[in-house]
Amino acid sequence: MLSIVIPCYNEEESIPAFFKEVEKVSQQIDHEIEYIFVNDGSKDSTLSCLRELHRSYPQKVRYISFSRNFGKEAGLYAGLQSAKGELVTVMDADLQDPPELLPEMIRLIETEDIDCVGTRRATRDGEPAIRSFFARMFYKLINKIGETEMVDGARDFRLMTRQMVDSILELTEYNRFSKGIFSWVGFNTKYLSYENRERVAGETSWSFWSLLSYSIDGIINFSEVPLNIASYVGALSCFGSVIAMLVILFRTLMYGDPTSGWPSMVCIFLFVGGLQLLCLGIIGKYIGKIFMETKNRPAYIVKETEENNLL
Ligand code: UDP
Ligand code: MG
Repeated sequence: MLSIVIPCYNEEESIPAFFKEVEKVSQQIDHEIEYIFVNDGSKDSTLSCLRELHRSYPQKVRYISFSRNFGKEAGLYAGLQSAKGELVTVMDADLQDPPELLPEMIRLIETEDIDCVGTRRATRDGEPAIRSFFARMFYKLINKIGETEMVDGARDFRLMTRQMVDSILELTEYNRFSKGIFSWVGFNTKYLSYENRERVAGETSWSFWSLLSYSIDGIINFSEVPLNIASYVGALSCFGSVIAMLVILFRTLMYGDPTSGWPSMVCIFLFVGGLQLLCLGIIGKYIGKIFMETKNRPAYIVKETEENNLL
């Protein structure tokens, strides 16, 4: 069986189109298919749309509905936990992940010695230039300072074997950064490229700032390098201040002390104060993560599934 996990947030317009497209492609697939839609606290009629779909295809379509918006990562996690198939794929509801690739992905995973077929965008066309620039910077940075390799342009759309899914589910952390987790668990992954597509309907839930904070999360979750920044910067500034002390001492002895230099003093104070706050902030970020992690809260709360349908 093939399980398709679809996190949905305000996707009432996309879901029917998505289902139709995937059903069309499924004729070329000789696996039984189960759909697991995860309604991530949508504010539109996504839930009733899913109830409807389940009513029409009770064997095929299952859904999980959260009590509020928990984020796509939580949706993915819930979907993977409830998937029963030997093969599991993760897709967006907006058809930005082309279902036409599925038959080829299944063929690859079954004939070649790989555990996962991932997809990546061939280009970043159609994206604001500034966003592409920051995205590239992010991948450069994270691959330099993190131990986990992250592929530039890789999407969450991927087909995985049961073994790999089980390994992913063994990572029970609260702060889930899927791009990192998929790569952290290892296994052989092969990437297919495809041209970027526009959403069929609705709009993206990502703003520039939410992407920025998402990428910072990615760095914090998969690298300890920022924590070391404080020690590097501290050592550097100690070294600098020793040199400065020697210079000043020497100058005072040679030329006397004209008691000037107040502006430079203030600059140094501000600079060092800023550095300390920056380092505290970085440490604070990690402590925040530890705080959330130790609370041990569930990643999501389910309000309704097809089994306890409230209507
Ligand atoms: N999504 C979700 N919860 C959220 C935000 C998004 O489940 O809080 C889902 C959304 O419905 C879609 C997928 O995650 O199926 C990708 O979202 P989106 O298309 O907004 O992101 P983009 O494709 O622009 O990266
Ligand atoms: Mg999208």
